[in-house]
Amino acid sequence: MQILEGKSVAEKIRATFENRLQKLIVKPKIAVLGIIGDEASEVYIKRIEKNCEKYGIGFELKMAETEDEFKKYFYKVKEDKNITGIMFQQPLPNELLNLIDEIPPEKDIEGVGISNMGKLFIGKGDVLIPCTSKAVIEILDYYNIDLTGKKVVVVGRSNIVGKPLIPQLLAKNATVTICHSKTQNLKEETKNADVVIMAIGKPRFLKREDIKDGAILIDVGINVEDGKIVGDIDFEDIQEKASACTPVPGGIGTVTNALLIDNIIKSCE
Ligand code: NAP
Repeated sequence: MQILEGKSVAEKIRATFENRLQKLIVKPKIAVLGIIGDEASEVYIKRIEKNCEKYGIGFELKMAETEDEFKKYFYKVKEDKNITGIMFQQPLPNELLNLIDEIPPEKDIEGVGISNMGKLFIGKGDVLIPCTSKAVIEILDYYNIDLTGKKVVVVGRSNIVGKPLIPQLLAKNATVTICHSKTQNLKEETKNADVVIMAIGKPRFLKREDIKDGAILIDVGINVEDGKIVGDIDFEDIQEKASACTPVPGGIGTVTNALLIDNIIKSCE
């Protein structure tokens, strides 16, 4: 089985950064907004901050104590010309999530607002695309996996992975099926797929009996099991049956990190 590792894919993306950063007229600076108290997201934010530092990208963090404080800060950075990108750190209450659509499209570095997402769906223009969904496509492209006419099953329908994958996979001429927690006979769907993309957040969920011989597997999941990071695919179990699979860690996550910086630079371009 071929291991579709993400390191070289990320390196290829990063290789474009220096040159592009030098050409920018506006200096990139992002604002990350969240509500205080979620430990997992704090680890994630630290990684983004370190990554930004590496490329001389400005970084401002506001973990608000109240919803009002969050809103006040949001409207400030929305208007601030020195802030080129805005990111919301989830989980957030619904009322604050609605503000995503008020992020100016050119500052929407996660590509999750209605403008970028809508344009992505109808294939209009060069938009900011949710990084994790794009990481799936970058890995498939890097390894020359042609999706034309292939049956691709995506398990998970979130706004950052499953949904934005629909137009990107259609653009690759795949036949796309999206599954979720209410899908009946999920295993029949995955068993008939040429390519399975797992994004549900359930450790080692997909097993060898759930796939067909020679299937290509992409694992978006990040789960902690017995102190170890594992994906949504049982990597050991599928080895003899799949033809290719991304590892966790070292697969989609690695490419996603590079693509966030890519989007930050793109928002200034
Ligand atoms: P999410 O918003 O929680 O969505 C999970 C999706 O999985 C939902 O659509 C849910 O269905 C579906 N689902 C849950 N249990 C299922 C089951 N037993 N069978 C079928 N479908 C099921 O998650 P997310 O934010 O997309 O993240 C998914 C996973 O990817 C997580 O492990 C997360 O940590 C990981 N992730 C990785 C990266 C990366 O850089 N590698 C980035 C983001 C997320 P319903 O819609 O019906 O509830």
